[in-house]
Amino acid sequence: MKLIFLGPPGAGKGTMAKRLAKDRKIAHISTGDLFREAIARESELGLEVKAIIERGDLVPDSLTIQLVAERIKAGDCAGGFILDGFPRTIGQAEALEKLVGVDAAVNFGLSDEELVRRLSGRRLCPACGRTFHVDFMPPQVPDLCDSCGAGLIVRKDDQIDSIRNRLSVYQKQTEPLIGFYSRRGLLKNVDGAPAPEAVFSALKKTLALP
Ligand code: AMP
Repeated sequence: MKLIFLGPPGAGKGTMAKRLAKDRKIAHISTGDLFREAIARESELGLEVKAIIERGDLVPDSLTIQLVAERIKAGDCAGGFILDGFPRTIGQAEALEKLVGVDAAVNFGLSDEELVRRLSGRRLCPACGRTFHVDFMPPQVPDLCDSCGAGLIVRKDDQIDSIRNRLSVYQKQTEPLIGFYSRRGLLKNVDGAPAPEAVFSALKKTLALP
C-alpha cells in the first residue's frame, strides 16, 4: 500500500502516519523528520536547509525530490510506504508521479484556529525526539521529557511567526494538491479535528482497512 498524507501543518498527519505505518508494517517517510535529522547531524543538506525550515518556508523542490527519490529506493519501502509531508508543491507531485504510483492521497482537514492552537502548544524533547502537547499530551513534570528527563523545547518553526508563515505557504503552495489528486480520483478526506482514536478509525474506514 502506497499512500500520501496531505494537510496543513498541525492537522495530525505525522501522528496518523506513524500509527498506520506500524499497524500495516509499512515504511513511514516524513520529509520534515529527514530534514531535521540532517540538521541535527550538521550534514551538508542540514546546513543548507536549516534557516529555510526555521522560517517556515519550503525547501527547494530539487533537494526535496532528490531526498525522497533516494529514500523510496530503500528495502523497507518495497512492501509499501506512507509519505508524510511530501509532496507539498505541484512540482513535487508531478515528480513523484514519474517515480512511483500511489493508491490514495489522504487529506486531513482542520480549521486555522485549531491548527495554531495545536502547533503553538507542541513541545519537543531535543534528546530523544519524543513530542508532547501542553493541552493534549502534557508531560508528567511540566517542561521535562517523561522518557529521558531532558528539558523540552518549542521547535523554532512552531513559534508564532513561523506558524503564520507555514500556514500561508501551505495555502499558496500545497492546497492546490487537493485538486491535483481529486482530478486523478485518488483523494480521500479525513476530518482531523476529533480525538486521535476517532481520526484513526475514520482513516482506516476511508481506506477500507480492517
Ligand atoms: P513538517 O515536519 O512536515 O511540518 O516539516 C517541517 C519543515 O520541513 C517544513 O516547514 C518545510 O520547511 C520542510 N519540509 C518538509 N517537507 C517538505 C517538502 N515536501 N517540501 C519542502 N519543504 C519541506
